[in-house]
Amino acid sequence: MSVITQPTDLLRRQDPQMADVLDGEARRQAGTLQLSAAENFTSTAVLAALGSPLANKYAEGYPGARYHGGCEYADLAEQIAVERAKALFGAEHANVQPHSGSSAVLAAYAALLRPGDTVLAMGLPYGGHLTHGSPANISGQWFTFVGYGVDGGTGLVDYRQVQALARAHRPRAIVCGSISYPRHLEYSAFREIADEVGAYLIADAAHPIGLVAGGAAPSPVPYADVVCATTHKVLRGPRGGMVLCGAEFAERIDRAVFPFTQGGAQMHTIAAKAVAFGEAARPAFATYAHRVVSNARVLAGALEEHGFTVTTGGTDTHIITADPAPLGVDGPTARGRLAAAGMVLDTCVLPYGDQRGVRLGTAAVTTQGMGEPQMLRIAEMFAAALHGEAARTRTEVGELTAGFPPYGE
Ligand SMILES: *Cc1c(COP(=O)(O)O)cnc(C)c1O
Repeated sequence: MSVITQPTDLLRRQDPQMADVLDGEARRQAGTLQLSAAENFTSTAVLAALGSPLANKYAEGYPGARYHGGCEYADLAEQIAVERAKALFGAEHANVQPHSGSSAVLAAYAALLRPGDTVLAMGLPYGGHLTHGSPANISGQWFTFVGYGVDGGTGLVDYRQVQALARAHRPRAIVCGSISYPRHLEYSAFREIADEVGAYLIADAAHPIGLVAGGAAPSPVPYADVVCATTHKVLRGPRGGMVLCGAEFAERIDRAVFPFTQGGAQMHTIAAKAVAFGEAARPAFATYAHRVVSNARVLAGALEEHGFTVTTGGTDTHIITADPAPLGVDGPTARGRLAAAGMVLDTCVLPYGDQRGVRLGTAAVTTQGMGEPQMLRIAEMFAAALHGEAARTRTEVGELTAGFPPYGE
């Protein structure tokens, strides 16, 4: 824990109030189960890069063309990050500056669209992200979004519906990607539909990109004009975003990120992204990515045995969405009871009706080294917590997590 504890010891002398907060968060992460599908534990190497003095550096612009002096190491950090991202994903161009996944999506829109353009994306009631046309987001205010859904029975994307909507609305761009879809998307089907109506194809691969890096999910890179992603979900890097694209869009994407939608890049985060890309290129990460999926499949099956309705009947990825209604509770109630028992996850939309379910993922627990026996135990603890045995379950969660410390002893 040296990387975690040393700065905290130093901080404790300087600012005991904030040191307490950070210690509390580190204990919370280690002592409860992190089952949010969007979270993971970065390596100590990634944390070291994040906590490095590169955090002090201003570097507006791109390597070799900065608005500031003293960028020789900032340039190296960004060049290494870009080269590693291109190699990892087989992309002609990578922009590693987006501050978040949302910033990456916004940059893709800025590069390809004009205000008022029509965009076809998964509707928010079915698992679309805020940046896919929410009226509370710039996307919904500045573009005309049309939403496709998922089949109410199977929970799967209906590609004929996507095609029919594309033919009817002639969108400038089609977005494929979701915050909760547990299955692989058929990028080739989206590509065909986009080609038929002359639309750009934007893949928002914020969730699956880490599985893609490990060869555990199909890559959108050969199909989409622009791929947007986060670096902090299964990919296990620092909080941030990136954009991958072909050479023909490189300049438009770069200008859309800086200076159109962002200012100075966060160079310490870019260094940490490079570290994470380096880790993701190793065989151990491919093993990890496949284990994330096998753990999710085991957990989904066990949740079904304990009475949950698992949407789409299972998962291809790290994401499980489930309806706890057969256990007598809705999603928000389930999230509250599970949190009281030390199991942290999110609520989500369900393919049918308007009630909410729960969304969970196996990226973080797999990083901790958990496997099939632990997945079975987690499903048991879910059922126990929802049946009102929060106190006993909280103790069991403590016992389980004590055996899998995220940053070692
Ligand atoms: C997580 C996510 C994002 C946004 O990521 P932030 O880093 O929170 O901005 C965008 N799109 C999808 C589909 C996501 O799952």
